[in-house]
Amino acid sequence: MARHLAVNQDECISCGNCQEVCPEVFQLDPASEKSRPIKPEGGPACVEDAINGCPVEAISWQED
Ligand code: SF4
Repeated sequence: MARHLAVNQDECISCGNCQEVCPEVFQLDPASEKSRPIKPEGGPACVEDAINGCPVEAISWQED
C-alpha cells in the first residue's frame, strides 16, 4: 500500500526545522508560513529526521 507525507496544518508552528533538515521534501508555504510536503512520496533519508525533529509532531505518514 502506498503512503504519503502529511503536515497537520493546525499543529504546525512554522518553526522551519523540517525545511532546514530536509528542503527537498518540505517547504514553508509563503502565504500561510506552514510547512507542506513538496515531495509527499518522500524518498530522502532526511524525511525521518524531519518527522522526528518536529517539536509538535505535526508530520506523519498517511496511507493512500
Ligand atoms: S518542524 Fe513541524 S512545526 Fe516546524 S515547520 Fe515543520 S511541520 Fe511545522
